Order: sequence, then structure tokens, then C-alpha cells
Amino acid sequence: MRIAKVEPITTARSLRGPFDYLLGAGEEWGGVDTGSLLIVPFARRKILGVVTAVAGDSELPAERLAEPLEVLEASTTSELIELGEWIAERYCSARSRGIALALPPGAGTGSRARMARTRTEVRAAITDAGAEALAEAARLGSRQRAVLEALADEKECSGPELAESAGADSTVLRRLAERGLIERRKAPVRRRPELPAVGDVAAVSELSAAQRGAVASVVGALDGESPREQLLWGVTGSGKTEVYLAAIEATLERGRSAILLVPEIGLTPQTLARVVARLGDRAAVLHSGLSEGERYDEWTRLRTGEARVCVGPRSAVFAPVGELGLIVVDEEHDSSYKQEGDPRYDARAVARRRARSAGAVYLAGSATPRPESWSELDRLELRERVDARPMPRVSVLDMREVSPKAGPLHPGVRDALSALEPPEKAIVMLNRRGYAPHLSCSVCGETVGCPHCDVSLVLHRAGDRMSCHHCGYGEPIPRECAECGSVALARYGAGTERIESLIRGLVDPLPVLRLDADAASRKGAHGELLRRFGEADGGVLVGTQMVAKGHDFADVVLSVLLDADSTLRYPDFRAEERTFALVSQLGGRSGRGRRPGRVMVQTLAPDAGPIAAAAGHDTPGFLEAELGRRQGFGYPPFASLIAIELAAPEEPPLAAAAERVAAEVEPLIEAAADTELLGPAPRFRRRGRFRRRLLIKTTAPETVRTAIAEVVEKLGAERSLQGIALAVDVDPQ
Ligand SMILES: [Zn+2]
Ligand SMILES: [Zn+2]
Repeated sequence: MRIAKVEPITTARSLRGPFDYLLGAGEEWGGVDTGSLLIVPFARRKILGVVTAVAGDSELPAERLAEPLEVLEASTTSELIELGEWIAERYCSARSRGIALALPPGAGTGSRARMARTRTEVRAAITDAGAEALAEAARLGSRQRAVLEALADEKECSGPELAESAGADSTVLRRLAERGLIERRKAPVRRRPELPAVGDVAAVSELSAAQRGAVASVVGALDGESPREQLLWGVTGSGKTEVYLAAIEATLERGRSAILLVPEIGLTPQTLARVVARLGDRAAVLHSGLSEGERYDEWTRLRTGEARVCVGPRSAVFAPVGELGLIVVDEEHDSSYKQEGDPRYDARAVARRRARSAGAVYLAGSATPRPESWSELDRLELRERVDARPMPRVSVLDMREVSPKAGPLHPGVRDALSALEPPEKAIVMLNRRGYAPHLSCSVCGETVGCPHCDVSLVLHRAGDRMSCHHCGYGEPIPRECAECGSVALARYGAGTERIESLIRGLVDPLPVLRLDADAASRKGAHGELLRRFGEADGGVLVGTQMVAKGHDFADVVLSVLLDADSTLRYPDFRAEERTFALVSQLGGRSGRGRRPGRVMVQTLAPDAGPIAAAAGHDTPGFLEAELGRRQGFGYPPFASLIAIELAAPEEPPLAAAAERVAAEVEPLIEAAADTELLGPAPRFRRRGRFRRRLLIKTTAPETVRTAIAEVVEKLGAERSLQGIALAVDVDPQ
């Protein structure tokens, strides 16, 4: 007797598998194994399930077991199922939600399983009889002859290809097939994603001594001679990508496969183009910008071993490759590696876990590594830019010395921008989109706010609207104050739209392009904007932090960061780290070609540690100081953080629920070492929902996770969280 242990893939937290199904004598069940995807009958519905194990017996008598209904074309691996189970536990999620991460793209859930499939087409090939007929000048129609000639040259063609090359329709092909002159068969069609070509996809240059040293160390790790977890710290422009590519090639040479994780893919079309140019068909790409069919086909190429390298953002950590040898996490400081929805996994932690259990090498790379990685991983260093190009000179401009009436740009910045001459380019970053972040009444002080969130609406001149950046709510720009009727409404502050128009006036006739979430909302617009900037003969790229990431343009001689301390004002222990990374990364876009670069940083806090350290290119100094600060406050990596977030449309029941959760959790974690519960603290109302947050600092995260799971289950069972949304965030960002 063969029993399939099946985990139903549903979003219901309460449903806990696996459930047993009987694999009868039917031959369709013969190939069912761990990782197979089945449609199974479940409480009078049909749902999607994954086989997590195949056993010889069941606790239930055979006559009470149902048979599955269908086996699906795709399957996943036992390694990925195990990884999904680990995630569910580590991030306090449901088992089925963890395992769902291991499924092929487009698998759907529950009764809405709508599996993507391989697309096929009919292809025709010439037979021996056909070749003979052609050679002997047998009696053939002119279009029949044209088809045979085309096939004699091409070996195999699809119907549309033959229509194009030989003018043949389906009748001609059918006649030829009936005469035995051609044969037709179904063949899979690969839906290939298109890759944008952006900027300088530099030819492979000779590796520097430092790059060769780094590659040798990774190769040593592959061969079991050096530590398997390494950090590649390389200053901006030091050629980290070349190290990754050489390490990936060494991995392939050893018959193993590799995964290269990059920040949100739209943000790095250049890296992607470079990798694919180098590895060709051995690489597959997985990201959300692809159609479901394209993703399914790329996933299948990895699953079958046709492709052995997967490139993609966060979710590519679940690439179904076998014989894993290397996982690279590029720009490892990037916050997009953390998933925001349930399960709130951190792809860096998942990659480390996966590499560890597969005996593979974990390589994290960045110019501005996280303090955690700096203290935990074995370090490789690239301290020089390629070709010994100098690091850009950084000037910190104190905005306290400039009258607010003079506008958002420092006189020094205005001068530097006005002096740009083709082909020189500049990048200007301001982490705030729209035209002006506030519109307020000069008489009564009332600010135009969002009706659903506790934030002000941002004025967007494009579209003449006020809009909320948290919920998407929008309304026309008001003509008078809703509170007192005054028409004296004033705009405060500047966003990217306003900076764009100011700079246009300074650099005319050079082009000014804007790159932010508004400008890049259309599919492909992001790559298109970067391409235009790359090809322009001089000009300025203005935008949010999208302009600071991963691209490489040789003519950029000036980088400007406005309001550099804005990130420091967030009440978040990562504020210092983020600010340092932002200033350094933006500076790193400058001076990557033959021209030296300079960086100008406008700030109200010129003496703040992260800004001063970034200006001095002092990454080690910043990280050592930051680690000291974190140790003092008991923040990661010296302790773990786990947050419990609650949200509800009404405040009183929310407050009561938050107090209740705190009261239930507290006694369970009291005894755990170095554990402290903070809150519940109110957070600003968002999307019409009030919010509360509990934060637990601990050096015993497992005890805390178990306690939380217990409390959530208990409160769920007694239905005391009705109407309250509760989410657990392990390692919040
Ligand atoms: Zn007013
Ligand atoms: Zn809103």
C-alpha cells in the first residue's frame, strides 16, 4: 500500500496537514513522490496539495482513505518543501504558507489551483521519404516543394514559420503528412523573457589581484577549504559583479548550480543584462515582471536542470535547482530582501539556511554591508575601484546656513549643476516624490490630510491632484481651506517633481529625466528611463532612491543628495545604517568612468555620525561604531527582535486586544534570558485601520516564537481576536 502524505495549500491557518491519500494501483499514481502536486478531494471540494512524504501505511484503515483526483505536470523538490517548513516555523506562519513558496509559479491555492502549463506547438520535420521525393523531383505542388526545401534546410519548423518561409497553409502540411513526406509532433515552446539592454554592459576585463583573491576564496569554500559563509565588502565601482560571475562559473565547472539574488529586479536591469550576456542559456531569470507563462517556463528550465543558474530578487531563493553550490546575495543591505506579506521571511536568512543544509557557499556582497553581516561572516575586501579610479570627493553642505526662502537647493549645488557641460551627467536624489509634501492653510494652520490615514496628502502637479502615499487615496487640489474657508493655501517642502522643474531651469538645454515610483509605474518604464539617460549626451537624472541603485553610467560626474538626514529622523534602530548606505551608494554612482566624480550632500545634520562617515568613505569606522551602539541598546546582532502587529477599524477593541496579547505573552517569556517586551505602542492609522505594535527583544528567539504561537492559537480558539488582524514579524526591518 502506498500512502501520499498531502499538505493542502490553502490560506486557512486552522487547516493543518498532512492528510493521507491512498495511491491505488492506477498507473497515473506510479510516479507520485515527495514534491508531486496533486488535486485531491477535500470536504466535498477539490483542492491543490503537495506530497510531503510517501509512506507504506496510514493510521487510518485503507477503506477510509480517498484517492487523489489528478497529478499535475509540475512538481517540486523535497529540499524546497523542507525549506518551506523551516520558514513557516521560523517566521511564525502556517505550514502550508511556507510550503507554498516551494511551488512552481502560478500554482494558485486551495480550490483555485490553476496550474500554469508548458505551452506546446506542432512542429514539422522532413522524413526520409520526403527527402527522397525532393531529390528525385517527384510530382509535388509548388508550395509542397517549398515546404520540403525549407525543412531540408531547417530540420524542424512550426506552422507559422512555414507559412512565412514557404507560404504553406495547414492544408498543404496535412497533405504532405498524409503522403508520409513530413512528420508532425508536439514540442514545448519556451516563453522567453525579454531583457532590456541598459548602459555599458562592459566587456569582461582582466580581474585585478584583489578580485582574483576574492574569487579564489569563494572557490576554496566550494572545495571545502575555507569558511562557507563569506561577505564580499567592496567599495562602489570595485567590480563585485565580476567576482560573482567568476565564482558562478567556477561553481558550474564543478557540476553544481548557483543562485544570484539581486534587489527588486526592476531596479537592476543592468546587472541582469550583464549576467545573461555572460552565462547565456545556462541562466534563468525569475521575477514578478514576467508573465506567468514565462515564469513557469524559466522555473521548469531550472527544475529540469536545463538552466543551472537562477537570477532574481527575493523569491529566487526558492529556485528549484539541484546540486546547489553557491548562493550570492548582491547588495545585501537592500531592504527588499525582506518580504512584507505572510510569511514575512528574510531572503538573506533563508539563503543562509538553504546554503547550509545543501553544503553550499553563501556569499553576501555590498559596499555598505549590514552590521550583522560585518560581525558574523568571514570577510573578503575590495578596497580599490577598478583601474585605480579615485573615490569621489564628498562635500557636506550645511542647510542651516541657507535661508529657507532661497529654495530647496544649496547655492553650491545650483552652481555645480549650472556648470555641467555635455557629455557630463548628474544624479540628484530626494527621497520624496510629488511636488510638495504638504499643503497648509496660512490662516488657521490646517494641513490637507488623508481621510483614511494619519498623514498629510502630497501635492502632485502631474495630474493636479493631492494623493496619499500610504493608501493611494486621491482628490483634486483644494482651492480653499476646508476648516476656515481661506484661500491662502501654501505649499511646503519639495518633492522630486519640484526639484525636476527647478533643475530644468538651471541646466537647459540639457535633458532632465525623473525616475520615481510615479514615473516608473508603467511596465518597462524604469529600464526605458535608464536607457535614455545612458544614451543622452549629458543631462540630469532626478529621483527617489531608485536612482541610487545598482546602475553604472560612465559620464556621471556629480551626485547630489538632498535632505540627507530625512532617513535619520525615522524612529527606527536601522535609521543610521540606512542613512549611511544611502549617502555611500548615491556617491558610488559618481566618477565610474574616466572623469573624476564629486558628491554633494545637503543636510541639516552635517555632524551626524553616518553622514560624516559616508563623506569620509569610512565604512569600517561606521560599522564598528554602529555595532558598539547596538550592543549598548541590545539590538541585532546582539539580540533578536520579534514584533506583533495588530490592526482594526475601531480603536477601543484594538487597544483591548493589544493589552490582552501582551498580558498573555508576558508570563510565558518572563523566564527567557535577556528578554524584554515593549509596548503595545500605537502606530499611525493607515488605510482606515488603527494599529498597535508589541516589540520583543530577546536572546532566546525560539522560546519567544513558541510562546507567541501558543498565545495566537489560544486567543484564536476562544475567538477573542474577532475583527482584529494580527501579524507576527520576526526580524522586522
Ligand atoms: Zn484655514
Ligand atoms: Zn491614506
